[in-house]
Amino acid sequence: MVPGARLIVLGKQGAGKGTQCMRLSRRYVLPHISTGDMLRAAVKARTPLGLEARRYLDAGDLIPDEVVLAMVAGRLDQDDTRTRGFLLDGFPRTVAQADGFDELLKPAVIDLVLNLVVPTGLVLARLVSRRVCEDCGAIYSTSTPPKLNWTCDFCGGDVVQREDDTEEAIKNRLDLYDSSTAPLVARYEALGKLVEVSGEGSPGDVANSLNAVIDAYQHGGGFFPPTPPEHS
Ligand code: ADP
Repeated sequence: MVPGARLIVLGKQGAGKGTQCMRLSRRYVLPHISTGDMLRAAVKARTPLGLEARRYLDAGDLIPDEVVLAMVAGRLDQDDTRTRGFLLDGFPRTVAQADGFDELLKPAVIDLVLNLVVPTGLVLARLVSRRVCEDCGAIYSTSTPPKLNWTCDFCGGDVVQREDDTEEAIKNRLDLYDSSTAPLVARYEALGKLVEVSGEGSPGDVANSLNAVIDAYQHGGGFFPPTPPEHS
């Protein structure tokens, strides 16, 4: 059904999924599907989905599975994901989402699940210093700000602290990760799809590790199309 690379990036909040997915998306020309970015865009645009989702996002709670599944199903039906595949960031996040997604994808299957592993102490430090572009979602931090006045280097949007990066909402999200999302690691490991990559190094080092995993998979005859364009 989807004749390209089908990748999932797993990892705690602050593990670096968004940062790395942006790099991977450019390098492998893969559509980056971030359910968090989609939901924040819906909240900003005040769509019916956004109006419903807002209270969950503010509290750091999970949006109901059927709502997220419908949103992802709509996105997978677009031309770019049909021809190129996808890089999923922030989804699936529960066993029910993973089950629903398997059904949605049939007869295709996931190629690889990349699990970015980072200790909790480090993700907490990253989350409190995280800043994001309100328009394109580019990720910065207080130690690596945009070049000019908290204006996004890529799109000129305002770079701000996310409303759900409060101490309380962060704690709730990390607890939900342990109870709802962590079981997915064992699920994909049992299927032989999981590769663990340390997310502790610099963004460039982590990107090199991820690229090496994907290139090795690809050279083993993993995905179609076999030779994605190189981007420097
Ligand atoms: P983080 O990984 O820091 O929590 P995300 O941008 O991935 O950030 O998600 C932000 C919020 O969007 C979550 O706290 C949750 O409310 C909602 N969300 C995103 N993805 C999902 C999902 N797959 N299922 C349920 N809720 C989701």
